[in-house]
Amino acid sequence: MIQSRVQKILEGIPESVQVVAATKQRNPQEVLEVIDAGIRIIGENYVSEARQKFELIGNRVDWHLIGHLQKNKVKKAVRIFDVIETIDSFELAELVDKECLSAGKIMPIFIEVNIAAESQKSGVMPENISMMVERISRLKNIKLAGLMTMGPVCEDAQFLRPYFKKTRELFEENKPLAGWTYLSMGMSYSYKIAIEEGANIVRLGRVIFEEKTGEQL
Ligand SMILES: *Cc1c(COP(=O)(O)O)cnc(C)c1O
Repeated sequence: MIQSRVQKILEGIPESVQVVAATKQRNPQEVLEVIDAGIRIIGENYVSEARQKFELIGNRVDWHLIGHLQKNKVKKAVRIFDVIETIDSFELAELVDKECLSAGKIMPIFIEVNIAAESQKSGVMPENISMMVERISRLKNIKLAGLMTMGPVCEDAQFLRPYFKKTRELFEENKPLAGWTYLSMGMSYSYKIAIEEGANIVRLGRVIFEEKTGEQL
């Protein structure tokens, strides 16, 4: 059951770590179940999918965008989400800033870092993070709140540890200027390692929703 899996996860992690339920392709009923089980943040990958669920569920939870944001979806995204975790270019940050101005809202955003510098992946390259922080910190209608990474896909989650370490270093190095507090890294198969390496937000899908994965991990 979703309820008992969520309970087990929450009991197994420090209180300082927040769980984002990654609810892509899950129906509103499943989302309501995780909320009943004590989850306070819902993470969606697509603006249109999020909107349907948001209209049913509303503001009783926080909504995080955890998927790539297309420029033509910024306007809608700004109206639904409480946090955008996937700012991956200055142009995108500027667009979000502009929409926030007209929506009368200050949006907390995370920069997404492409920590393994994979050519096919979105995210800011590690060496460009401090420049991005500097530029984004001048925008008035968004607030730099965190750093997020997906990390490379691999069989063994231990392989991710050095990438999580490196992301943590970037997070700490840039903290004075960014003023950010959240480090979002780790998914179902890697969240325990991510927490050991300093994550204070983990994004969990399968371990919550799938019985098999939930038992293995
Ligand atoms: C789907 C997704 C997750 C969760 O992945 P699971 O393996 O299901 O835990 C986390 N982050 C992002 C960006 C995702 O798209």
